[in-house]
Amino acid sequence: MHLARYNPVRFAHLPTPLEPMPRLSEALMTPGGGPNLWVKRDDCTGLAGGGNKTRKLEYLIADALANDADTLVTQGAIQSNHVRQTAAAAAKFGLACEIILEHRTGSQAVDYNRSGNVLLDELLGARTRTVAGGTDMNQALAEVAAEVADRGGRPYVIPGGGSNIIGALGYVECALELVAQANEIGLEIDRIVTATGSAGTHAGLVAGLAVMGADIPVLGVGVRAPKDVQEANVFRLAQDTAELLGHRERVSREMVTADCDYVGAGYGIIDDQVIEALKLVARTEGLLLDPVYTGKAMKGLIALSRAGRFDGETVVFLHTGGAQGLSGYQSEMEGKLE
Ligand SMILES: *Cc1c(COP(=O)(O)O)cnc(C)c1O
Repeated sequence: MHLARYNPVRFAHLPTPLEPMPRLSEALMTPGGGPNLWVKRDDCTGLAGGGNKTRKLEYLIADALANDADTLVTQGAIQSNHVRQTAAAAAKFGLACEIILEHRTGSQAVDYNRSGNVLLDELLGARTRTVAGGTDMNQALAEVAAEVADRGGRPYVIPGGGSNIIGALGYVECALELVAQANEIGLEIDRIVTATGSAGTHAGLVAGLAVMGADIPVLGVGVRAPKDVQEANVFRLAQDTAELLGHRERVSREMVTADCDYVGAGYGIIDDQVIEALKLVARTEGLLLDPVYTGKAMKGLIALSRAGRFDGETVVFLHTGGAQGLSGYQSEMEGKLE
């Protein structure tokens, strides 16, 4: 596997740290021992607050520049971290940035609609427009790209979450980086746990581990779609990504596992167990999670740990970022942080 063939542009702060979480592990101790928890700090990738989209953007921006684009076009939910990181990458490379924000959660709260990532998108100079929840976002992307081309621009469309085979290469690279770090310190990883949404992160990890032959299971905790849909999306993208690397046959269906029992009322909708997860991790490790992705993944990790599912295992939690969205949820969390 030779990732340099895809010539990523380099701006992420890599490698991200791999750190133990002893106080969280202790808090989740069970009669059977509980998990030994570590965290891979992809919240520290450095681009305007960082997060998992930064690794994908190293490959996507390279492709945009190779195609002589002058405008990035992408989409996400109102509090999208992907949109914030894309806006930052556009600014850094002198590209214009057209954003379509989907009103996916239906929240009318001022902080959700104006603060957090939305404030940062505007600060970073992106042009945003908002569309109703349930809009066909791929169609909307095509329309905005046509608009850019009509006025003489050269659009480059990045799908939601940066999740295509090019973006997923960023998480193939993360898989290589993580295994190298673990080898260096003699850490035997039994499992990786990550939030899984538009699927590029989960698929890239699975493809990377499969292609290098590292036998480490990945558990994706779903934040939106039901299990069958999520696993099918991840499997398809993991296979296509492995094919780009010349080894489609190395990704098998049973390598893809998503647990979608922790979504709660829906995408981007916070609940008491998410708030408990945010508080527990903040107060044991001084670590900030986010309400939409990592908070839900941690809600799952906590419940499964307490149920004894990870007893005796060394589990690496991939921190995919998102704390920049916390202030968008201020009113939701008000009074619940004692
Ligand atoms: C986008 C995002 C995810 C999900 O990653 P996908 O590649 O879309 O599955 C997880 N965590 C955070 C903080 C994100 O912004």
